[in-house]
Amino acid sequence: MSTVPYPTALPSLFVSHGSPLLALEDSVTGRWLDGLAVHLPRPRAVLVASAHALAAAPRLSAGAAPATLHDFGGFPAALYALRYPAPGAPALAQQVVERLRAAGLEAVPDRAMPFDHGVWVPLRRVFATADIPVLALSISPQRDARWHYALGQMLAPLRNEGVLVIGSGGFVHNLGALDWHNRDAEPAAWAHAFAQWLAERVCSGQADAAQDWLARAPYARQSHPTHEHLLPLFVAWGAAGAAGAPIHEAWEYGTLALHAFRFDGNA
Ligand code: ZN
Repeated sequence: MSTVPYPTALPSLFVSHGSPLLALEDSVTGRWLDGLAVHLPRPRAVLVASAHALAAAPRLSAGAAPATLHDFGGFPAALYALRYPAPGAPALAQQVVERLRAAGLEAVPDRAMPFDHGVWVPLRRVFATADIPVLALSISPQRDARWHYALGQMLAPLRNEGVLVIGSGGFVHNLGALDWHNRDAEPAAWAHAFAQWLAERVCSGQADAAQDWLARAPYARQSHPTHEHLLPLFVAWGAAGAAGAPIHEAWEYGTLALHAFRFDGNA
């Protein structure tokens, strides 16, 4: 992987990967993901910080052909047959690890690290041909939003090297509050209030306020009983360092927000 400047700085993105059924079913969000790539320069590689890859210190997939991990239960058999055979990018992984280590993090390349469903479910729709190399990056539930924003800042130079940085999580994510029998349910008022508060912070560039979401946002704990699905937002945001633009807004099952944001700050 060369580090020569890429003709165009890539944005960073936050996407909500929703339910694994997003990979199979027709839905508003699925169709939106199907058309997303036409709005982006073609990346040399994609780095996805996933809510489903958890580690105390950053781990990066470093295999040449990472496996597709079906890290969920109780879904139709067809979902378990899906694969995302994109190649890995071992040399790039090593470069990213060195970049993070130089910034003081104990980053680790992991040759056995697969693509969890936070990685492959959205990518299977955005880059369906699976011919762009992909790196999976863990997040650290032991750390807060501010730490993940700083992690994103360390990744910012990659945007000038042809790497698309994606945070894959969920904008509102409380599995215990889903109305599983009604995908098209209207959003609950509390979930909507939280999403509106956070979207306003993202789109006005109030990163400090957003990083204090747990203390400041309405219905914060109800919207994220645990924070691993929100942390990828801060990785994507930090990688651009400026306000985001809303590029998708959708709700499923009453409280599952599938919002997405694009960040075009200077790399
Ligand atoms: Zn998830």
